[in-house]
Amino acid sequence: MIEYRIVEIFESLQGEGYNTGMPTIFIRFAGCNLNCSWCDTNFRHFKRFSLEQLLAMVGQYKSSNIIITGGEPTMVRDLPILLSHLKQAGYYIAIESNGLGKVDPLIDYVALSPKFCYQSRYQNILQSTANEVRIVAEKQAGFIDFCHFIEQHIEAKRYYLSPCEINGEMNMFDTIELLGQINHNRIDNKWLLSLQTHKFANIE
Ligand code: SF4
Repeated sequence: MIEYRIVEIFESLQGEGYNTGMPTIFIRFAGCNLNCSWCDTNFRHFKRFSLEQLLAMVGQYKSSNIIITGGEPTMVRDLPILLSHLKQAGYYIAIESNGLGKVDPLIDYVALSPKFCYQSRYQNILQSTANEVRIVAEKQAGFIDFCHFIEQHIEAKRYYLSPCEINGEMNMFDTIELLGQINHNRIDNKWLLSLQTHKFANIE
């Protein structure tokens, strides 16, 4: 029997990146191949859903957009079967991935978030195209080189830096300082700021 390990399913507005504000059903899968110190997702606690149960849950919501997220959703076994059912039902499907896996071609919008703290894992990138790349800003030696490396190896329409919470504080100053350094002497194709606006708006 096909079974999916689900942390949560909910409907909200996309809080980050190019599609900020887009009404969306979020399907958060369990499991990840990284363990970032500032991770704010409890991807180890999940419930098991059959394919039919999962499709029924999704069908309860109004939105025609879905974000497949995690954890790391490219690791999900039998994901193509779910995607094929969702496409047949007419959903627009986006994915949020850490960029270590290959994204299924049925996905309409690809957001990759490579992690600097695991930079050695990105030497052999499998997914070399994306709609957007979002990197969490970390003020450490080599961070800007990592951003440039990712830009050279993942062809995306947009590149973003995002602040994150470290020891209870948003590293906002570090983020905009790094953004200025990455964009130094660039006029076009600048990196942009992406905020986790759902946290300011007090939504999921
Ligand atoms: S890749 Fe994402 S889900 Fe996985 S540990 Fe890092 S922040 Fe958390």
